[in-house]
Amino acid sequence: MTPGIVYLVGAGPGDPGLLTIRGRELLASCDDVVYDALVSEELLASALNGRDVRRHFVGKRGGDTGSARQQEIEALLVRLARDGRRVVRLKGGDPFVFGRGGEEAQALASAGIPFEVVPGVTAGIAGPAYAGIPVTHRGAATAVTFATGHEDPEKGERATDWGALARSGGTLVLYMGVRTLPDVVSALLAEGRAADTPAAVIERATYPSQRVVTGTLATIADRAREAAVTAPAITIIGDVVLLREEIEWFERRPLAGQRIVVTRARAQASSLSARLRELGAEVVEMPAIRVEPLDPGPLYDALDRVNDYDWLMLTSQNAVELVWRAMRARALDARALGHTRIAAIGRATADALLDHGIAPDVVPERFVAESLVEALGRRDDVEGRRVLLPRATDARDVLPDGLRALGARVDVVSIYRTVLDGDGAARARDRLRAGEIDLVTLSSSSTARFFVDAVGAETARAAPVASIGPVTSAAARALGLTVAVESEASTIAALVDAIVARRR
Ligand code: SAH
Repeated sequence: MTPGIVYLVGAGPGDPGLLTIRGRELLASCDDVVYDALVSEELLASALNGRDVRRHFVGKRGGDTGSARQQEIEALLVRLARDGRRVVRLKGGDPFVFGRGGEEAQALASAGIPFEVVPGVTAGIAGPAYAGIPVTHRGAATAVTFATGHEDPEKGERATDWGALARSGGTLVLYMGVRTLPDVVSALLAEGRAADTPAAVIERATYPSQRVVTGTLATIADRAREAAVTAPAITIIGDVVLLREEIEWFERRPLAGQRIVVTRARAQASSLSARLRELGAEVVEMPAIRVEPLDPGPLYDALDRVNDYDWLMLTSQNAVELVWRAMRARALDARALGHTRIAAIGRATADALLDHGIAPDVVPERFVAESLVEALGRRDDVEGRRVLLPRATDARDVLPDGLRALGARVDVVSIYRTVLDGDGAARARDRLRAGEIDLVTLSSSSTARFFVDAVGAETARAAPVASIGPVTSAAARALGLTVAVESEASTIAALVDAIVARRR
């Protein structure tokens, strides 16, 4: 048996982008991940990317004492490694900053288990950074101290010398201790730190829901209490806090604070979600539809006779990918389509074709079937010609009907079906019911129907929708939804622009 190994990996403060490349590589290849409550589920899901990894949640459960849990965790790491497993011990922030990572390393060392440490971005630096506060700054702070506001005698911590910290004059960053903040503040004031020293508390730093409360040493504890700040939160004390007024950036992004449900097929959701997140939105992905390929036999038959067709028409990225998969299975490449004209609906479809070395002959101006029929009606090479149309079973009949009206002979081959995916629906439903969603994006009329089916008609009406175009808007209205945003062109980019414009 190959010997196991444990990697003590810092997950960063929450934003999945702040996991290190090394951390991501290890998560992409480990057998087991042992993690606790500070590790974001979203980060875990994105780094594991659907891999079948054994997950061990070792976060706090009611009733158990800190040190008993810590011993259990250490025993678990040793046991897994002795079983020959590659284990990632994933800890919030940096494993060695108030994370008991040192104790875990000691336990592994004394058990003779190989281990490595992958540092992470610690909350005490990332939190202030995302609040627009540099922990050091020329003229404002030449030193920074990281301290815990929560001294646990059980952990054998030596008492903090608040007097020394009060006199040091540098930036003070406090981990933990939302509850103990009033005591720490009193101690610092009693030891002579100026009452008007600027201070800030950053709750859920680097998450889209990040909140920042500011004040002075004299007021910050009350302000935090009034704002009902809860863990996890970082407190920062010192003149550097004033810089926030000038260089706060996170909360100024165009969609900061917006909570948006994205309903698309999983594979296509990523570009829309990524763009919305980049602009500051919190995205609740709801893979309302999932693409399920059908028996490829009929498509294989059609491709074997592809020279009989004058036209190949593709109406979605999914269709392009499935046709290519089938071509590969039949040992064909782009040359097989050398004599076939190709039409595509939608820029994403055209781009997918380009990725396979094919520039479509016709891409209609508007990305709907009606527009393609119109464009083809202006050509003299459609009447009497044979058209291959591989597409979803549940697509509308506008295109085949329109083509037949133009005198074409159309073979429709059903290659995939879109099905309801319960995954994610429950989460979106709960947030909608709690009134925690500002907008729902709909990228097609079928997503509108699936959305309503997935969360229920009444819940679906809890938030307005952003629709990708008039056909989708009409479908949404017919379902009783309120269309607050409609994209001018049926593209993801235009949809995002329209959402930002509404916000302004
Ligand atoms: N190893 C971690 C710290 C663990 S101690 C690190 O390096 O960041 C837990 C404390 O970290 C919390 O009580 C809080 O003070 C801080 N913390 C961790 N993540 C945080 C976040 N996203 N926002 C604010 N504080 C956070």
